[in-house]
Amino acid sequence: MISVAEARAALFALAPDLGDETVPLAEAAGRVLSAPVAARRDQPPFAASAMDGYALKGVEADEHAQFKVIGEAAAGHGFEGRVGAGQAVRIFTGAPVPEGADFVVIQEDTSRAGDVITLISAPGSGSNIRPAAGDFAAGTVLDAPRLLRAADIALLAAMNVDRVTVRRKPVVALISTGDELVMPGEAPGPDQIIVSNTFGLAALLEAAGCTARMLPIARDTRDSLRTVFDLARGADLIVTIGGASVGDHDLVADVAAELGMEQSFYKVAMRPGKPLMAGRLGDTPMVGLPGNPVSAMVCGHVFVLPMLRAALGLGASAPEARSAPLAHPLPENGPREHYMRAKIGPQGLDVADNQDSSLLTVLARADALVIRPPHDPARAAGDVVRYLPL
Ligand code: AMP
Ligand code: MG
Repeated sequence: MISVAEARAALFALAPDLGDETVPLAEAAGRVLSAPVAARRDQPPFAASAMDGYALKGVEADEHAQFKVIGEAAAGHGFEGRVGAGQAVRIFTGAPVPEGADFVVIQEDTSRAGDVITLISAPGSGSNIRPAAGDFAAGTVLDAPRLLRAADIALLAAMNVDRVTVRRKPVVALISTGDELVMPGEAPGPDQIIVSNTFGLAALLEAAGCTARMLPIARDTRDSLRTVFDLARGADLIVTIGGASVGDHDLVADVAAELGMEQSFYKVAMRPGKPLMAGRLGDTPMVGLPGNPVSAMVCGHVFVLPMLRAALGLGASAPEARSAPLAHPLPENGPREHYMRAKIGPQGLDVADNQDSSLLTVLARADALVIRPPHDPARAAGDVVRYLPL
């Protein structure tokens, strides 16, 4: 059995090559920028007022000084003339500062009578002017690869970039297997349960910028599995769920092998999720997840998402772990790396008593997976441990 880190390294080696596409900026949030982008202009493109007030010469801006107002500069409508000695231009936030002026006195520091303003208090030292290119200059580069967040989209728009080159979204085919499974909303037979893993994994993957292709449930027969594998053609990654153990009805590895899968590994020293398998089916990487609902979701976090992040160009690295104290003691861990569902509370990480890998309610209540290394000694309340946020 290999370690979690070894399994993840093997998955990084299998990560698909996605290539790039160009999309409109409005559709780029959550995508991975794959080529650097340069600003097409300065921002602001001119020295701009940061306040509503009066533009004038800074050397004249003394308390009690008076100025003649000769015009107005509003956002989108600059003042054409020049500000001379003893003159001021009424100005609003975002307007270009007129020639001759190098200072904006804020409205609150003035009183106005007709065309004349008086500075009724000392204007302070700040000019209230945003210099041209003070945010960024033309040619300023946003580096790639980079996961585009809302702030990046705003920046790209300000740079006058309307289309961006991003990594193609990975299409992940999800195949649940089992005679006992029916879709939510269907009427289950007396021996049946509702498929949950395809839905949970699809949600996890879609939130991470992938396209989930939910395939029909494969029955526990070779024919049915072959048919559904066939429907997975064209996907960037095939994920099967269940049928991965050594029971008589666990046919996924057999059928995948018949179809030519080159196995990379089978079984990982972890809890939950031991019967994980991976390999390549033709040109397509395949990951076989265990069927227990919590195992499948934990393996989604620990293996499938990092593999897809690597494919997207975001780096081949373990999911980012954080540290927090335990709210109560934990017994010694066994030989497998254990991912324990926990809730983060005021006292620290409250690890659920029942870690049975079939209990989705416990997973849904959890917001952390506490990571116990193999043979981790018993831990006391207050000991700081690593966890994955959920
Ligand atoms: P298996 O790995 O196929 O032996 O499945 C292990 C356990 O997980 C069994 O109790 C299955 O009923 C359950 N299971 C397998 N696949 C799914 C699924 N897609 N959704 C919900 N439960 C599943
Ligand atoms: Mg099964």
